[in-house]
Amino acid sequence: MSQRILIVEDETDLAQILAEYLQRDGFVATTIADGLVAMAALRQAPPDLLLLDLMLPGMDGISILRELRRTSELPVIMVTARSEEIDRLLGLELGADDYICKPYSPREVVARVKTVLRRAQPPAAAAGSPGASGSTLDIDAEAMQARVAGKNLELTPKEFKLLQALAARPGRVFSRAQLLDALYADNLEVSERAIDSHLKNLRKKLALAFPDEEPIRSVYGVGFAFECSECFPS
Ligand code: CA
Repeated sequence: MSQRILIVEDETDLAQILAEYLQRDGFVATTIADGLVAMAALRQAPPDLLLLDLMLPGMDGISILRELRRTSELPVIMVTARSEEIDRLLGLELGADDYICKPYSPREVVARVKTVLRRAQPPAAAAGSPGASGSTLDIDAEAMQARVAGKNLELTPKEFKLLQALAARPGRVFSRAQLLDALYADNLEVSERAIDSHLKNLRKKLALAFPDEEPIRSVYGVGFAFECSECFPS
């Protein structure tokens, strides 16, 4: 059955182009230009994924997402006209699954939609529950060990905590500040760049374990997200 994508976007030309691209790829795409109308539609017949513009007439994207997240884990990709805005959005911890900046290429949006939907399929990916069946990445919080197919990754405590934070929410984009919080609970003096060297080392170790993919994706100007199909095969 075709998956349904709701595009909430008040630039109707843009919404139309995107809908056409999604339909060409086999999705059923609907467009709504007003925030209040969108909210009503989301309550009545939730789609499989929501592409949500930030600035909208009626009700803005942030309010819609907040309202939605009270009751629903529906995958949401937030669309914004300003890349600077993404940092602020991350800080609000709205729970969007991905962020896209305008201007975008419709092809890229389609690819991101597919990625987010693929992740959403097993409702709770097994990160953080050691020994979960079928997962090749096991995160053992008590032993502070991460294993791939039973083999210990030999992470430092900081690398372990980074991996644990990222992998607990596959696909969610974390800012440096948020990762820093996960690493240094009681130290506010550490520079955000301190994350980078730990990330670099963690990536090297993951690259050895997963030569075919790069599980930690950089989101330019924003932060990092954990995406790894081999880690949690469905
Ligand atoms: Ca808009």
